[in-house]
Amino acid sequence: MGDATTTEQSTGDLADFPTRWHTGLALVAHPDDPEYGMSAAVARWVGEGKRIVYALASSGEKGIAGMDPDEAGPLREQEQREAASIVGVDEVEFWGFPDSDIANSEALRARITETIMAVDPDVIISLFGGDHWAPGAPNQRDHIEFAAAVVDAYDALLPRAHQRRLFENGPNASHAVEVGDEVEVAVRSLAAHRRYLEVLDPDTPVDEQARAQIEKVTAPREDFGGRRAVAFTLVRDGDTDPDH
Ligand SMILES: [Zn+2]
Repeated sequence: MGDATTTEQSTGDLADFPTRWHTGLALVAHPDDPEYGMSAAVARWVGEGKRIVYALASSGEKGIAGMDPDEAGPLREQEQREAASIVGVDEVEFWGFPDSDIANSEALRARITETIMAVDPDVIISLFGGDHWAPGAPNQRDHIEFAAAVVDAYDALLPRAHQRRLFENGPNASHAVEVGDEVEVAVRSLAAHRRYLEVLDPDTPVDEQARAQIEKVTAPREDFGGRRAVAFTLVRDGDTDPDH
């Protein structure tokens, strides 16, 4: 657990995210979902030689106000591929489910199952599925439906899903990944959603928006020995080797 230079070097409340795995599958609803939360951790994992795959239910085609979805979809896919490539992720798939109308449907669960079987991940990272991030900060309906579909698909896969741990990237964390230099990479990665962010907040430069968000999700954590980290919640503990 880190170095022992401080007097109260407790392990903190959060456990270290498992390290002995090879393939991670990030399942999300929209372009920019990986970048808003987990990309600094992804940059670290890729740097350690792990394989990370991004799968996105939608292309975020409704996400740019004033832009026709037929134009916004391809643009957002392109920005997403660029954002992924900045953290070293080259495998990005888009499933084409309708942005802003994502439902925990049989079709979505089937696609999730198919992708888990095809990618064969050791670790699955999904979106936060709770209804509120914090009091007064409701989660998006797309995210809630999507996260529920992932859990349902995972449970239906048992026992074939059993060797894979399922995490969500949100509050009420149980595990954390320490990050350092990856913070800058994550800022660049989020800023790759340039057109999206320009329209979202025309008054704040894109790089500034990206930095503010990444600083927030990689802030030093009292519950992790004061270290900068990205936090995750263990949702399903695959029946894996108990010592890691
Ligand atoms: Zn989203």
